Amino acid sequence: ISRDATYEVIASPLGTRGSEGVVVAFSDISEREQMGQIRRDFVANVSHELKTPLTALLGFIETLRGPARNDAAARERFLEIMEREAMRMNRLVSDLLSLSRVEAEERMRPESRVDLGAIVRAAVQALRPVAQEAGVEIALNIPSEPVFVQGDSDQLTQVIQNLVENGIKYGASGGEVRVMMTLSDRELAFRGPGVRVDVIDRGEGFDPVHIPRLTERFYRVDNHRSREMGGTGLGLAIVKHIVNRHRGRFRIDSTPGEGSIFSIMLPRA
Ligand code: ADP
Repeated sequence: ISRDATYEVIASPLGTRGSEGVVVAFSDISEREQMGQIRRDFVANVSHELKTPLTALLGFIETLRGPARNDAAARERFLEIMEREAMRMNRLVSDLLSLSRVEAEERMRPESRVDLGAIVRAAVQALRPVAQEAGVEIALNIPSEPVFVQGDSDQLTQVIQNLVENGIKYGASGGEVRVMMTLSDRELAFRGPGVRVDVIDRGEGFDPVHIPRLTERFYRVDNHRSREMGGTGLGLAIVKHIVNRHRGRFRIDSTPGEGSIFSIMLPRA
């Protein structure tokens, strides 16, 4: 019996009318309790995250019907905010769907052989306009030959996009996000040929105490700032699940004021 665990206790009398004593069974239900708690927290978080933009939307609708009815400038401004809030809800729901899909698939291994180099190049290409708008240069160091992994190309694209998007969002002050791909013949983590992708920014970074919790759903270093940047708090949780599904490893490193490195390591096919 441990002090930190939760037990279910069942006592049954022995013999006729319990005259021969009693059997008491303790079963450790800590894990079940914990899962229940995690599920309750998750539902509470989702509700809260959806409720905030919804409350804003309802408030603005009210204002548009009343005081701002005949004020064209105010109407335009409010519609802009409403669009932003609706887009936030949209992103949140998309991320929730992605997360539940990759969690459900975690036990299945992806079957296709895909070129990770091409995936990274295309993902970065798609984000160039976003980077440009934020004043960030994306530097790419990728081997010219194909780098094959056993993988799901949409999911690997999402991993790279989430990491590079974060680099642009939180690393803008550094002006550059570098994406580097390195091959190794014997990656220790899976005792075979591997490929590592590092997404490096020179932005604000964060205290490494946060690292173990960053892949939890809705965990953010700075709640207010992340929301302001349009974040859902689910990006790194999605990355972790996809990388696990690909038998890979995900590592985070950061120095406050200097920047961060997010690395994924995958076995090569
Ligand atoms: P979000 O949608 O809030 O960006 P993520 O799961 O992608 O959610 O990231 C979780 C948190 O990790 C962010 O809120 C932010 O605090 C921190 N973070 C992620 N990437 C970076 C980065 N490149 N630099 C600094 N902080 C980061």
